[in-house]
Amino acid sequence: MTLFNIQENVPMRKYLSLRCGGNARYFAEINNVNELQKAQKFALSKGIPTFLLGQGTNILLSDSGYSGLILKLTGEFKSYQFEKKENSLIIYAKAGAILGSVVRKAAKEGFGGIHLLAGIPGSIGGATYMNAGAYGSELSQAVKQVKTMDSQGNLKTYSVEDCAFDYRSSIFQKNKEWILETILELPFTPEKNLIHEIEEAMKSRKEKQPLEIPNAGSAFKRPQNGFPGKFIEDAGLKGFRIGDAQVSEKHANFIVNLGNATSTEIAKVFKHVEEKVFEHSGVQLEREVIFLGDFNQ
Ligand SMILES: Cc1cc2nc3c(=O)[nH]c(=O)nc-3n(C[C@H](O)[C@H](O)[C@H](O)COP(=O)(O)OP(=O)(O)OC[C@H]3O[C@@H](n4cnc5c(N)ncnc54)[C@H](O)[C@@H]3O)c2cc1C
Repeated sequence: MTLFNIQENVPMRKYLSLRCGGNARYFAEINNVNELQKAQKFALSKGIPTFLLGQGTNILLSDSGYSGLILKLTGEFKSYQFEKKENSLIIYAKAGAILGSVVRKAAKEGFGGIHLLAGIPGSIGGATYMNAGAYGSELSQAVKQVKTMDSQGNLKTYSVEDCAFDYRSSIFQKNKEWILETILELPFTPEKNLIHEIEEAMKSRKEKQPLEIPNAGSAFKRPQNGFPGKFIEDAGLKGFRIGDAQVSEKHANFIVNLGNATSTEIAKVFKHVEEKVFEHSGVQLEREVIFLGDFNQ
């Protein structure tokens, strides 16, 4: 098969906010739906799995890498378009567009609702898959439709009801379809100074989160009865370290790479935190960070 730009044995750390992990057996940057379908056929012909990467801000890739094909959306997939209605803004955002840029630009034009998601450093596709949220808002509250491609290359459209959005969860985590585009509707919000609110939220993130050190955002999801950071602190784990992998001194629900942490070390810190928090408070923490590849060696 003729291949556009599929490369072999590609180091992935530069694509991942945790800056660790091994190689992709195959890797390709994908510009449009046609290339995505070709890449899917390539993987099928080789009998290997595929993984669609967004901005890589919620992933821990194992040190042994990924034995299939990792795809990253670029080109046409980075674009988004605005359509103004009387009291709202419709946004046609391709999956590779950057969430922060989209919501910030909409806020500048007076459309809010999800403006406080501006500080989440992922793509539209990743934010839809994760139903990303912050400061009481979630992406799903603005979603109208999601366009996807299934494992046979068929194109589909989901209404927001069909997306089964929940806390950090969506149907796409179960059906493994690839999100191509998310259509959002944001209300006109002239009564608020949206940009000021965004700046305040960004300031609060800077104060509370270890943004200067590689990390993948919240390590664990919020359990019913409290905050993971508090349970982790109460178990005496703030600053707990294995090699260069550490429970952040600044925010205990962030696990950071102090420089040369391996993914194995980071995974060990996750496991230790899970065990100790369970021992200390009986809470079984659930990972928000997605583990990709083999961690059993
Ligand atoms: C400093 C920091 C702060 C963060 N703060 C927040 C926060 O406040 N709230 C929050 O919710 N998250 C937060 N995160 C986590 C992360 O940014 C979000 O989960 C984000 O939505 C992930 O987007 P991404 O493009 O980086 O996805 P990736 O990390 O690349 O991928 C995450 C998952 O989405 C899937 N995916 C990506 N694109 C597609 C697609 N087009 N189709 C199908 N599946 C796809 C991937 O396969 C993977 O399973 C933070 C992360 C960091 C580093």
